[in-house]
Amino acid sequence: MLRLGLDIGGTKIEGLLLDAQGGVLCRRRIATPTQSYPEFLHALLDFIVGFGEEATPPFSIGIGLPGAVRADNGRIKNSNCLILNDQPLRDDLQAALGHPIWLANDADCFTLSEAIDGAAQGSAVVFGVILGTGCGGGLVVHQQLLVGPNAITGEWGHNPLPGYLPEWDGPGQPCYCGRNNCIERFVSGTGFAARFAQNHGQPLSAPEILGAAAGGLQAAREHYRHFIDALARSLGSVINLLDPDVIVFGGGLSNVLSLYQDLPTALLPYLFTDSCRTRLVPARHGDSSGVRGAAWLPALNGGVAP
Ligand SMILES: [Zn+2]
Repeated sequence: MLRLGLDIGGTKIEGLLLDAQGGVLCRRRIATPTQSYPEFLHALLDFIVGFGEEATPPFSIGIGLPGAVRADNGRIKNSNCLILNDQPLRDDLQAALGHPIWLANDADCFTLSEAIDGAAQGSAVVFGVILGTGCGGGLVVHQQLLVGPNAITGEWGHNPLPGYLPEWDGPGQPCYCGRNNCIERFVSGTGFAARFAQNHGQPLSAPEILGAAAGGLQAAREHYRHFIDALARSLGSVINLLDPDVIVFGGGLSNVLSLYQDLPTALLPYLFTDSCRTRLVPARHGDSSGVRGAAWLPALNGGVAP
């Protein structure tokens, strides 16, 4: 069967139609409607039906989205695409289209894609990390996505930053989730830039700060050094808990090549071992991993089954 994967993002929805062998038949995208849920649903249905112009349905359909599907009532929760929260998206799509839909968190789809045929291919335990607007995470074990009763597997970004010290980590950081000092507020691309502006009064983007650090600006170099240490503390607790074979990085900050040199050394003081064999690698499929993983969902039955 043909496989359609959709990746719902805050600004765009991407779709990828794959043939039975995994070859790309077509790729399309639209802007994400953000005004209301009915508008969103209507646009998404039109988008899905539009793939019928490229090949004859039926397709299996897997969707990655920010947030999670509640196990008790199938409604969306924890989405920073706010119009989706508490909506029965899967039920609405299935009612309109007349066949099953698989849904999963977007970071879960990313991890699945990289574990199946990406940078972590062939590894038993794979933790996926997205350092982008937020800090997503997912866990794939023996090519199966782990989905628990709370639908929050891998949500390391909303743990409190381990070992938080105001004199080193700066003022407390409230998070949109209602808690304080979530890891996401320190090591996501958004948090990285926001804290630099807070500490130095310069509203630079994350790439601009990194460019300034490479150019020798002391404040930017210090900011990067803190980022590596905060990331090491945060992922140290993940490694102690899961002992993954591979951690795969995606999102904007995963393109910082020095991360793969500096992080392994920075991690060691926080690990319950004197050496670390966990591989830290950038994603093979880059920004396409989310939509590729979504397309894999039905075949692997790793999404939240209808
Ligand atoms: Zn939070």
